[in-house]
Amino acid sequence: MTWQVPVLCQHCNDNYGIPFRHFQAGVVFHCPSCSGSFVPTSSLCKAVKDSFEQFYGGRRRKREAYERKRAREQAEFEKKQSSELAAFKESLHQMAEERKPAGKLVRPKGLAAMFT
Ligand SMILES: [Zn+2]
Repeated sequence: MTWQVPVLCQHCNDNYGIPFRHFQAGVVFHCPSCSGSFVPTSSLCKAVKDSFEQFYGGRRRKREAYERKRAREQAEFEKKQSSELAAFKESLHQMAEERKPAGKLVRPKGLAAMFT
């Protein structure tokens, strides 16, 4: 991603962008419309750099926190699903046991009948 620093030309009021990595104090830039020159001062460069870092650093931190939260929620969801599946299998097993008491033949009924 190329970060552009927007510049308003002081000669013709046209807008243009300077790639962030080239935006350095003392470098001469020229307006594409009127070729008017623009030289960023060190305090302007520092302010731009600070605001870029603050904004993109903040975004990155938020994104990382969001991704950690999602990963945690997904792990919890998977765990819940697998324990529900285990409980379901266990209940099927119990139904099978209940339907076959020792020495007695019992007709399967209800849900258990579907699994015979
Ligand atoms: Zn201009």
